[in-house]
Amino acid sequence: MNNYRIALLPGDGIGTEVLEAAWPVLQTVAKQHDFSLEGVWLPWSCEYYRSHGKMMPADGVEQLKGFDAIYLGAVGLPDRVPDHISLRELLLAIRQGLDLSVNARPHRLLAGVPGPLRSSIPFDILCIRENTEGEYSGAGGRVHRGGDLEVAVETSIFTRAGVERVLRYSFEQARQRSGRLASVTKSNAQRHSMVFWDEMTDRVAADYPDVEVTRYHVDAIAARMITAPETLDVVVASNLFGDILTDIGAAIQGGLGFAASANINPTGGVPGMFEPVHGSAPDIMGKGLANPLATLWAGALMLEHLGESAAAADLMDAIEAVTVTGAGTPDMGGTLSTGELARQIQAVLGR
Ligand code: ATP
Repeated sequence: MNNYRIALLPGDGIGTEVLEAAWPVLQTVAKQHDFSLEGVWLPWSCEYYRSHGKMMPADGVEQLKGFDAIYLGAVGLPDRVPDHISLRELLLAIRQGLDLSVNARPHRLLAGVPGPLRSSIPFDILCIRENTEGEYSGAGGRVHRGGDLEVAVETSIFTRAGVERVLRYSFEQARQRSGRLASVTKSNAQRHSMVFWDEMTDRVAADYPDVEVTRYHVDAIAARMITAPETLDVVVASNLFGDILTDIGAAIQGGLGFAASANINPTGGVPGMFEPVHGSAPDIMGKGLANPLATLWAGALMLEHLGESAAAADLMDAIEAVTVTGAGTPDMGGTLSTGELARQIQAVLGR
């Protein structure tokens, strides 16, 4: 029987609530598929920062390398620890330390969830965002600080290795889905980085003759996600463009309560990190209002990545067996608490 060691990082705010609600559901599905999940709870958070002066131990990333996957709630409580510290010292440190260069986010409507678009429009897109470089490289600075001539420079860095690995991962995903890939740039305006991205797309495409590639400018595909989402399947974009497109995707699928994400190092050898896209939502923390579906969906992505595809599919089916009834947390128009919704899904699995 396979046993997977999972690092559980509940983090802050509703992060702890959704992870504590989701974990028993994953345990149930594991049991039914004859594998086990051994969870180790790691209290790295803003609370940890207040008592230790740092968000995680100095060897935190090394500790994480000993796990098969990382399952994260949410990080950050800005009234206790400034976001630039909590995010940089925990989330970004893990992403960079494990070189989790691919951020994959499935966007589709769960059964019974209306979403803001006409329900007759099919919507099922996998957005893949480059996660470690590009526009968020942090290179740049201020010139002539303070005077009338003050200038701020933000430099995007696109490396051949960085672009190639996210493209290859995306082509692989497209091959496993419909065989269609949309590559997103703004190469009519950004003549260096985005033209390079297009060239790399052509080079990698030569190894995937079975995948049909369409190039889109980011503004055009943003509109297309709303007006004709059925024409899109796998979408790959840079860090900034992916950030924006995945927020559109989350909105179309019903909001942050549904948006799940997988942070993956496509070269393997280190654990991936699976998390809901939302933050710690201090406004609703401690009230049982948090929607656990994004976290459960992230759990399904984790099981899929571990190679337990049948368990992942069963978990998604159980989630939809509940959403189709109209049951849900208040953000879904329902009356269930975080724990009640998770337990309903667990009960479906136990039938
Ligand atoms: P950040 O992403 O910077 O940490 P934040 O923590 O302020 O931001 P988010 O958690 O991203 O905010 O969410 C914004 C709002 O969306 C929250 O204030 C909350 O009302 C709502 N929200 C987010 N996640 C959920 C959820 N799982 N269930 C219900 N509502 C949610």
